[in-house]
Amino acid sequence: MKIVVIGTGYVGLVSGACFADFGHQVTCVDKDPKKIEMLERNEMPIWEPGLDSLVESNVKKGRLHFTTELAPALPDADAVFIAVGTPSRRGDGHADLTYVYAAVKELAETLDHPVVVVTKSTVPVGTGDEIEKILKDNGAPEGCTVASNPEFLREGAAIADFKHPDRILIGANDDSARDVLREIYRPLFLNKAPMLFTSRRTAELTKYAANAFLATKISFINEMADLCEAVGADVQDVARGIGLDNRIGPKFLHAGPGYGGSCFPKDTLALLKIAEDAGVDNQIVNAVVKVNDDRKNGMAGRVEKALGGSVDGKTVAVLGLTFKPNTDDMRDAPSIPLVNMLKEKGADVRVFDPVGMDMARPHMPEGLHWAADENDAIKGADALVIVTEWDEFRALDLDAALEAMNGNVLVDLRNIYGRAEAERAGFSYTPIGR
Ligand code: NAD
Repeated sequence: MKIVVIGTGYVGLVSGACFADFGHQVTCVDKDPKKIEMLERNEMPIWEPGLDSLVESNVKKGRLHFTTELAPALPDADAVFIAVGTPSRRGDGHADLTYVYAAVKELAETLDHPVVVVTKSTVPVGTGDEIEKILKDNGAPEGCTVASNPEFLREGAAIADFKHPDRILIGANDDSARDVLREIYRPLFLNKAPMLFTSRRTAELTKYAANAFLATKISFINEMADLCEAVGADVQDVARGIGLDNRIGPKFLHAGPGYGGSCFPKDTLALLKIAEDAGVDNQIVNAVVKVNDDRKNGMAGRVEKALGGSVDGKTVAVLGLTFKPNTDDMRDAPSIPLVNMLKEKGADVRVFDPVGMDMARPHMPEGLHWAADENDAIKGADALVIVTEWDEFRALDLDAALEAMNGNVLVDLRNIYGRAEAERAGFSYTPIGR
């Protein structure tokens, strides 16, 4: 199959490289010339484990190409995947479809033969209908069809997720689109990855429902963590106690500083807008969003409390800035409100992240100390705050850390240390929900 992927970000690049690895001919198109220039030099514009070697091997085999121009990518294409961003629209939380519609308009004006247009971007219910209309209104050839194929990969494990998905979801209202997508995913189908065919609107909604449900699990366990702190229980044991129940499952039950990332925050907001537009009150998702916002905004207060009520004039070391480990993605990371609030409250903040420093800079206040490594971050700190559970932060030499610090406060927002070991080293230890 000949595939074009429009948008070469976390989803588009991984999808394109994996499709090429399945044996398809793939061209990834991106408007950002810097990204394409980097890819042509085999440098990755994003940090994703294993992506560089996957891209390199498929480029060498002549199956994966990069370009800033859509037109030369299109001849003979069977399917065009739209994988551009759908961020929150400023001010109202609707998914901003500007990039999707611009890409579809350009596609309609450029195509000279019918293709299957596939939305991989997360898009509100009914976007496929609008895409059909844009194609028609802008002169796309007769016979183009539109399908929804939402992506469920996780950053940090994106290639494994793409190649071994829990399911492949295909929303299409006609057989020809279904047949093309079945053929594209045939290598996974042979591996018995469940392939679920639904209507286009159902597929569009399923993606939002999945993210909202996972966000709900996180907000739920965070709420239980607060309750555990108040009543003297341990949230990790509670999570295990409920997670071993097959009906609940153990994943997404880690209490922490609130969910962030490029998907949950914007997709829960967009789902609320979809519901609002449809005249439906989604009370659970509403509460999930509120609980999470409050949680993220409450983390600086935890550090304050651990330091005896004020961070003014205190030095705080923050380890981990990205919204989770194994990615450089900073979108809606809990570190953003935390560091900004600490700074506002008068703290000297020393930050370190193994890969996210460059991506973090635009989100962070002036006057931080950008540390060279975790040891540099810790130097002279009154409090050490673990925000992202990178592996290298799991195995800190606590004795040496304490010696390098000025104070002895350890705020562990990811519960990666045990109270006993932290206290044995001499720390005053504040975990989450324990
Ligand atoms: P991203 O911001 O990393 O990448 C989007 C890319 O699209 C950018 O490189 C941008 O330059 C490019 N682009 C925008 N308009 C273009 C156009 N007209 N032509 C060519 N290129 C264009 O976004 P992402 O994180 O990969 O997310 C893409 C979509 O996938 C979103 O809808 C997101 O919700 C969804 N999604 C993301 C993830 C994730 O983990 N990041 C997971 C599942 C689904």
